[in-house]
Amino acid sequence: MDSSTSVPGEAALAVSPKMQEKLARLGIHNAMDLVLHLPIRYEDETHVFPIDHAPQGRAVQIEGVITHNEVVLKPRRQLVCRIEDRSGSLCMRLLNFYGSQVKAYAVGKRVRLLGEIRHGFFGAEMVHPKCRIVQENEPLAAAMTPVYAVTAGLPQKTLAKLTHQVLNHLQQPGLLDETLPEKIIRQYRLPEFRSSILALHHPPPETPVDLLQSRMYPAWQRIKFDELLAQQLSMRLHYRQRRSRTAPQLGQKHKHALHDRFLGQLDFKLTAAQEKVAAEIGRDLASQHPMQRLLQGDVGSGKTIVAAIAALQAIENGYQTAMMAPTEILAEQHFQKLSLWFAPLGIQVAWLSGGQKKKDRQPVLAAIESGAAMLAVGTHALFQEQVGFYRLGLAIIDEQHRFGVHQRLALRMKGMQQESGLVPHQLMMSATPIPRTLSMSYFADLDVSIIDELPPGRSPVVTKLVADNRRREVVARILQACRQGKQVYWVCPLIEESETLQLQTAMETYETLCKIFADLNVGLVHGRLPAQEKAGMMTRFKQGEIQLLVATTVIEVGVDVPNASLMVIENAERMGLSQLHQLRGRVGRGTGASVCILLYQQPLSAIARKRLKIIFEHTDGFEIARQDLHLRGPGEFLGARQSGMPMLRFADLEQDGALLTAAQSVADEMLNVYPESAQRHIQRWLGGKTEYLRV
Ligand code: ADP
Ligand code: MG
Repeated sequence: MDSSTSVPGEAALAVSPKMQEKLARLGIHNAMDLVLHLPIRYEDETHVFPIDHAPQGRAVQIEGVITHNEVVLKPRRQLVCRIEDRSGSLCMRLLNFYGSQVKAYAVGKRVRLLGEIRHGFFGAEMVHPKCRIVQENEPLAAAMTPVYAVTAGLPQKTLAKLTHQVLNHLQQPGLLDETLPEKIIRQYRLPEFRSSILALHHPPPETPVDLLQSRMYPAWQRIKFDELLAQQLSMRLHYRQRRSRTAPQLGQKHKHALHDRFLGQLDFKLTAAQEKVAAEIGRDLASQHPMQRLLQGDVGSGKTIVAAIAALQAIENGYQTAMMAPTEILAEQHFQKLSLWFAPLGIQVAWLSGGQKKKDRQPVLAAIESGAAMLAVGTHALFQEQVGFYRLGLAIIDEQHRFGVHQRLALRMKGMQQESGLVPHQLMMSATPIPRTLSMSYFADLDVSIIDELPPGRSPVVTKLVADNRRREVVARILQACRQGKQVYWVCPLIEESETLQLQTAMETYETLCKIFADLNVGLVHGRLPAQEKAGMMTRFKQGEIQLLVATTVIEVGVDVPNASLMVIENAERMGLSQLHQLRGRVGRGTGASVCILLYQQPLSAIARKRLKIIFEHTDGFEIARQDLHLRGPGEFLGARQSGMPMLRFADLEQDGALLTAAQSVADEMLNVYPESAQRHIQRWLGGKTEYLRV
């Protein structure tokens, strides 16, 4: 690459290979990375407070003379020094210290301490403050001291010095140049990029401490805006690229032939929300560009039928639909339901799963290849190499967040291999409601439809928290429910460390419950069961033959048995919020009142207590998701580490909603009017990282 096309800041840093390696551990590979390695906080050493009048509850700097120095042995070995100024005195306690420090902090030395003052048994004290020996009248820092994230062998000072050099001396041409068009800077009253970066690395003395720490300072706002904008730009660009391909145009020209017959045979009417999203999807399918739509709807909101309507539209136009689900149980259930729905319409549905025997599989593959089966339902086995579609027009992915990157990629490749060169439409479905800002941010490359209403006649599930030692009452309750003709799920604890252990626990629970409920029919499903047995068990439960179904978390997604109205979840304190919400969504599907009992083991950790409180107090999936996001942060919430999505480093989706909205509209304007600026902006922020997988 010659220098005229190289991107400012992408040049390697002129440092030793050893240093390069250390910097790489912090994700710093070039000058721009270093510039954007902004302080995580600041220390205020511009001030010295009198000991007795220093503010509480935050780090402060004090200065005094050491009047006492002693290594104390009880209650544990520590170095204790008393420091005095004109206003009073305090104790410095070092629990880990070197012999050299005992000598250095000798009586009579003058020191400056930076730390929070607390009040202990011996009065005011600072535990492990930053401590520096100073001369009388030593000048104070003129500005706030930045504190960077560091790594072993790379101390604050070295990193600060390197950053200073890059910013002030070795400045590469264009390193801090503006990427935003003048007009946008003026319109949104943004500070310049250059001055913002300089101010954050070396805050001017008059900078308000609070705004700097809380990241509300204008320079921070600019950086956060730029980061959000880069994300929006790259996602929108990605969206446009995919959108520029050609898809089969699945128009509604034979309008309503199959569609009407299908809806006519149902014993319920679509909700307004279902009608709305079905229409949005219908319009997309009729376009000549591939749909990339995410259908969100809380557990039980009726997404399957919307998917079926979309499939019919493809089929009416002579194109196949593939529907993929993350577990065999769920895929099997979709297969059964859709076969039932589509049989009267004369549409053959194929069923493909990983566990299928070769000889069962051959005819299925043949039906898919010849187009005899216009709908294929299955697990990710659907997108393996041996499956050749006749004419794939639409791919539906249920519970899309449960699929890994590889599986989604396989699906995408399958779509690209069509002989016609046409790219199939994609409909992704998710029952994990995604809070608005998160969706605007991380799903900016998708169109989103939301089902925001449940079918009528559902009664909310009553949630009860019951400590483990009150199991007996739970047993009594189950007996009572079953005698009234109701059905019950008993969900075994999730044991993440070991699948074998989880299986064992499920078996034991099953045996115990069989003994306790000797006159009930008890069943067991778990992930290791052969697909056929799993399906058989679910069918027997659905038909009411089995009254109590012991299950591992395999039933978490999608399983739909309306007569089941009581659920017991063991060790609920170990499960995540979305998992609990999904599990609980298995009941409350019929018209009778439903109950979900969360058994928990004491003592509860603080986080488990919070989770249980949230699930107990809320039934609205969006609210639960919002609180979950708050507890865990976006990375954990989205499982993004798996999907390879770059996470936001500076912007906070809860705090910076307004910036996100601005970034969203600026992104579209830039792509339309200032494409070169957009490119440079993406390069600065994402560099080579724009090639991440988003499938
Ligand atoms: P989810 O959105 O969780 O995938 P499902 O598609 O499994 O929900 O639907 C849950 C249940 O609600 C199913 O039994 C389905 O037949 C039923 N259902 C869907 N739409 C309606 C409706 N408009 N009125 C009544 N019941 C409905
Ligand atoms: Mg579903």
